Amino acid sequence: MPQPSHSLSIEPTRIKLLNQKKMTDGDFVLYWMQQSQRAEENQALEYAVELANHLDRPMVVVFGLTNGYPEANLRHYRFMLEGLRETVATLEKRGIQMAVQLGSPPDVALKAGQRAAAIVCDCGYLRFQKAWRRSLARKAACRVVQVEADVVVPVAVTSSKAEYAARTLRPKITRHLNEYLKEFHVVPLKNSSLGLDIKNLRANLNLEAIDALQSRLDVDRSVEPVNLFFKGGTREAKKRLKNFLNQSLKHYPDHHNQPQTDDISHMSPYLHFGQISPLYLALQVKAVDGRKVGLDAIEAYLEQLIVRRELAVNFVNFTPNYDTYDCIPGWASQTLSDHLSDDRPNRYSRTQLENAETHDPYWNAAMLEMKHTGFMHNYMRMYWGKKILEWSRTPQQAFDITLALNNKYFLDGRDPNSYTGVAWIYGVHDRAWPERPIFGKTRFMAASGLERKCDIMAYVKKINKTIGKD
Ligand SMILES: Cc1cc2nc3c(=O)[nH]c(=O)nc-3n(C[C@H](O)[C@H](O)[C@H](O)COP(=O)(O)OP(=O)(O)OC[C@H]3O[C@@H](n4cnc5c(N)ncnc54)[C@H](O)[C@@H]3O)c2cc1C
Repeated sequence: MPQPSHSLSIEPTRIKLLNQKKMTDGDFVLYWMQQSQRAEENQALEYAVELANHLDRPMVVVFGLTNGYPEANLRHYRFMLEGLRETVATLEKRGIQMAVQLGSPPDVALKAGQRAAAIVCDCGYLRFQKAWRRSLARKAACRVVQVEADVVVPVAVTSSKAEYAARTLRPKITRHLNEYLKEFHVVPLKNSSLGLDIKNLRANLNLEAIDALQSRLDVDRSVEPVNLFFKGGTREAKKRLKNFLNQSLKHYPDHHNQPQTDDISHMSPYLHFGQISPLYLALQVKAVDGRKVGLDAIEAYLEQLIVRRELAVNFVNFTPNYDTYDCIPGWASQTLSDHLSDDRPNRYSRTQLENAETHDPYWNAAMLEMKHTGFMHNYMRMYWGKKILEWSRTPQQAFDITLALNNKYFLDGRDPNSYTGVAWIYGVHDRAWPERPIFGKTRFMAASGLERKCDIMAYVKKINKTIGKD
């Protein structure tokens, strides 16, 4: 069996052997799709195609749909299933069979891969995603290869440790951009897998009937789908991107703190589910004529998409306790603890917060936006999180409530950006500011700041209209 070490078109630094087993004489190459849920601009998929061609085998894709995905509810499942339905159909056009099966993802992959020559998987940075891949690599009889498809620059290429802030990560990532900001080669699959009757791949779920499938799933149903506002899938992501590039990119640098506008890309739900590739996004933005939108707009967007987003990936990758209060830096924990006994004139329970029952109409609008639409502008996310810190009994309690609400309601929740965004409220990747009550030296945000810097009443009106509260 030929044993290629890496692909011809995917950078070797994206590729990692997860075990030392050999490729076998199996019938096909299996791509276990988990993080990068797309049929386009997916390096893991293309690596699997090249490997299958090299071994003169067909290639099949399997996705394990678990009822027990951490913190996922119906809102998240609906969006994901819409994306998977499209992915199955797009792969079929390329002669690739994809099965979506109920079960624990690594178990589904292990079973589906029993007769595989090799298993290719994509890469996730959260604790349980890493554990799933380790478990598969340990138990599989064949080689398991991981391909990092959801970052522009592979995490270990950028840095070998948790970075202190954007300013320390920026030079480390920018120096690699010439190497990684480029399109990769896509080749057709030589041996179609359509029509192959593969043992253990037969229990395929019917994604054409999403409503019926959704009602069969034993998942948390307490949070409604938001498909009126966000439809899942690569096609929808690309449509939104096109509108953003045509209409909003030029306003992006001025409107980053203007939540009454919609001049942001809304790509985060699609990025979270791997329905759009960050490399594709970056190349599309880079290709825009700078004379039309302003070079600063292109730069500002790439800063968020590459530097800020990959700082979040760096954070969860190198910070084992990324989801607990003790992940915050020593200076922040000290200063917040120094102010533990400060008077907290406004105190709200998790239930009052979740019901948007505070004295602050701006905050309530933000809470209602996330509950009803699954999304919020970055500027309001910052304000929303800072106020929970101000209104809770302790910062530890505030951290837990913020993360729980974030992951429950945002479509893009449970992402490296979720953990990093929440930790930022408590000083991660930030610096010390002048000391003040409750916040100590961590950054403070005030309602008067919103009133001064943006048209916050227009934001409240926009949200009331969107959720039909007018
Ligand atoms: C308290 C708090 C909680 C957050 N929770 C989440 C979350 O659960 N999921 C999530 O994806 N993001 C989260 N963020 C980061 C950011 O608010 C969102 O990524 C952004 O608002 C998504 O909107 P967009 O796609 O239109 O962004 P755009 O402004 O169009 O930016 C494009 C992409 O760049 C990245 N990006 C933008 N802003 C940031 C940022 N501040 N940090 C890191 N990456 C960024 C995102 O991937 C985004 O999709 C949080 C931020 C804070 C302060």
